[in-house]
Amino acid sequence: MEKILEVKDLHVTFRTYGGTVKAVRGVDFHLNKGETLAIVGESGCGKSVTSNAIMRLIPNPPGKISNGSIRFKEKEITRLSEKQMRSIRGVDISMIFQDPMTALNPTLTIGTQLVEGLQQHRKISPTEAKAKALDMLELVGIPNATERLKQYPHQFSGGMRQRIVIAMALICDPELLIADEPTTALDVTIQAQILELFERIQESTGVSIILITHDLGVVAKIADRVAVMYAGKIIEVGTKREIFYESQHPYTKGLLNSVPRLDLQGEKLTPIDGTPPDLFSPPEGCPFTARCPFAMEVCDNVYPVTTARSDSHKVDCWLQDERAKQLLATAEK
Ligand code: SF4
Repeated sequence: MEKILEVKDLHVTFRTYGGTVKAVRGVDFHLNKGETLAIVGESGCGKSVTSNAIMRLIPNPPGKISNGSIRFKEKEITRLSEKQMRSIRGVDISMIFQDPMTALNPTLTIGTQLVEGLQQHRKISPTEAKAKALDMLELVGIPNATERLKQYPHQFSGGMRQRIVIAMALICDPELLIADEPTTALDVTIQAQILELFERIQESTGVSIILITHDLGVVAKIADRVAVMYAGKIIEVGTKREIFYESQHPYTKGLLNSVPRLDLQGEKLTPIDGTPPDLFSPPEGCPFTARCPFAMEVCDNVYPVTTARSDSHKVDCWLQDERAKQLLATAEK
């Protein structure tokens, strides 16, 4: 499979009056052409910071990509100038944010905003730009597109506004779309419609998608692969099947046990007790130690070695070590 994006040993820090926050601490992952990778985890785990780093939207100061590589096709994103980034952002890589209202200008019509975005990046006549804007509104399922182009954001419902934001993100035919919690601000019915829209768009355009979310229901619906983040690290990655049915990391299992399932009616949800570690001074060892029911002495002191359970399934947990497996087997006898 062709890799469109490869992130290696990415570190992002933020300097504050209280010290340096190590928000992303050595993240590795890749994205294949045409696939959807979901990055999941609790608030503050570093998933949005990772996606902003790919877009080079980390405000410097106080933020900084302090180490690592982000390769998008043949380009090393971390080394590009701001001018070079401007020619990639919104063109080759686009981003959809959580709240559609903040992404749209309330004083301009939808048509103006769609056409402006396109004309900024492509040499295209106003007539061609308008035709493309109409195509995009139709692609995202907005009826009466010709009339709707003349309307302002407040004349659309929340779901329709998110469809317009998706149209804006796709108007330059990007190869990579980053969607940061794209359905969080929407009610459940509209959420389902937007997720179906993502699937339809991917089928028709072949765009590769990184989906940032805390919602495992959204992941189950549209992801091909899943990366689970905790305290600035990816602690488990695998195909959707591997994560939902064969997860190995106690944190991933905890996340799965804390969401309601229709097939387990009457079962109690099990929350994950405790809080994530302080990223001003993250622990040397496994960051989940304080919350993990299986924590061992080694977990406190040494970060676990990554274990590959298959070509696609990788886990950072000492329970995968043969010595831990033997100990557990002995304890069970
Ligand atoms: Fe738990 Fe240790 Fe595995 Fe971390 S490495 S998840 S503390 S068992």
